[in-house]
Formats: sequence, structure tokens, C-alpha cells
Amino acid sequence: MPLNTWGSLQVTRFAPSPTGFLHKGHAYSALIAYRAAEESGGRFLLRIEDIDVTRCRPEYTEAIFADLAWLGINWEPQEVLIQSEHMNDYQAALAKLDAMGLIYKCFCTRKEIAAEAARIGGAPHAGETIIYPGTCRNNPREAKAGENYSLRLDIEKALKITGEDLFWEDKELGQIKANPLRFGDVILARKDTPASYYLACTIDDARQGVTLVTRGEDLRDATDIQVLLQALLDLPTPLYYHHKLMADKEGKRLAKRSDSESIRSFKERGMTSKEFIAMLEQA
Ligand code: GLU
Repeated sequence: MPLNTWGSLQVTRFAPSPTGFLHKGHAYSALIAYRAAEESGGRFLLRIEDIDVTRCRPEYTEAIFADLAWLGINWEPQEVLIQSEHMNDYQAALAKLDAMGLIYKCFCTRKEIAAEAARIGGAPHAGETIIYPGTCRNNPREAKAGENYSLRLDIEKALKITGEDLFWEDKELGQIKANPLRFGDVILARKDTPASYYLACTIDDARQGVTLVTRGEDLRDATDIQVLLQALLDLPTPLYYHHKLMADKEGKRLAKRSDSESIRSFKERGMTSKEFIAMLEQA
């Protein structure tokens, strides 16, 4: 566990998605956020990121509460933010971005995106993802009745509004210049999922008054997009700390599918929460 000086009165949060049982890595992440709040004399908040109704289940939300309680983590019960109850706010933010001319409908399937990227050659990638080649941005049209689409953010146009000088402070790496262009035009909503993680998380960190976002380093790239959204929507940029990810015995990243690593499986095998936390602290 990192020992850190966090500054005073930090408002932190843990924001899991109830798509499975929390594992060791989630416990590690939650404890970092909780301790940062405690050590700085601030507040620790909980948010349930349950926007994707096709994957989230209420029993996993209940399990999150139970697992955190077992870990001895105290959150403010009246301040728990359940994202599925706030869809109108995400829609309002999308409408604002739309009024700024920054949103367009995209009808491309994954297969079409890959084919178009191959056609134009040297398809740029961001990690494992092909960067969207802008097909629907260049040929805007309305949806036909019943047609499926997603809403993308025109990043180039957005940067013309905000300017390219977008920065965020990473507790470990110092000041970072955001480079959202490298991800291409990201999806902010789908027809059946009215807000993407990028959008909902940005809005809710601001709504909950979060001053220090602690989360795994797999989400560091998302920060570049979220800092752009903050600038567009006139929201404050918190401080960020992206911690190392925990791996399993084979060195693979932990997944919610891996039941043997779930917090509850350690509990069921008779481990006390004290022993469990001591194990995390040695990681
Ligand atoms: N809901 C995200 C997840 O479970 C975490 C979001 C965040 O911490 O920004 O991976």
C-alpha cells in the first residue's frame, strides 16, 4: 500500500460497477480511497456505477455494501450515488455538448470500423483499440426508425473550444498534459445506454465534490478524456492518483470472473478481515 501525503480534507470515492463480486484488487482500491480520506481528515463517498443495465445486477450492489462493511470501510450512507437514478443529468450534459455542435450519431459496427481502418491503411491504435476513423463524422445523417447508433464526441472540434492546454495533476507523476486526441472520437452514449463511463463518471465526480480520484492505473487513459469533458462542461478537475493493479498468481490482471480472488471467497474460507487487509498491505 502506498504511504502518501494527500493534502488536507480530501473528498475521495470508490466507484465500483456491480457487474460481479468485488475482488482483492477492488478491496485494495477501496482502502486507498478510504485511507486517503481518513488521513487527510476528509470524506469518503461511495458511488455505484450501474449505468449498463445489461450487465449490472442488484445482488452485486448488495454484495458491494456487505464486502465494504466487512473490510471496516465506513461510507456516508445518505450520500451513496446510484448512477441509474441520474440518467436525466447525463442526458442534460449530452444535450449541452450537442448544442455546442460536438456530438454526432455513429452507425458503424465494430466490423465496419475495423474494415474502414484497414482500408485507409496504417490504422492507428490506442492500446488494443482501433481509433475510430471518423466515418460518420464526415458523413453526418439522422437515424432511420429503429436504427441503432452511438453518440460520439468530436474531439478535434472540442479542443478548438477548450484549447489544447489541458492539464491534470497526478499525485505520482506530477503535472500531465491531457492528450485526448490519441483516442479518437470516443463514445459518450449509446441508444440503449444513455451515458458512457467517461461522461457519467466526470459528471458525478463533480457532483459529489470529489477532490482526489484514486483508481487503478488501467483508467489513467480515461483521465485525458475526462479532463476534456470537465473543461467543456465547466466542471472542476480533481487531483488524481492511479495505483498499481493487483495480479493473480500467474501475474494476470484480476477479473470479476475469477471467483477465487473475490473478497467473499476469502471470507468464506475463514480469513478475518484483519488478515485479509494485512495480505493486501504486503502486496
Ligand atoms: N466503475 C469503474 C470500475 O468499476 C471505476 C471508475 C473509476 O474509479 O473512475 O472499473
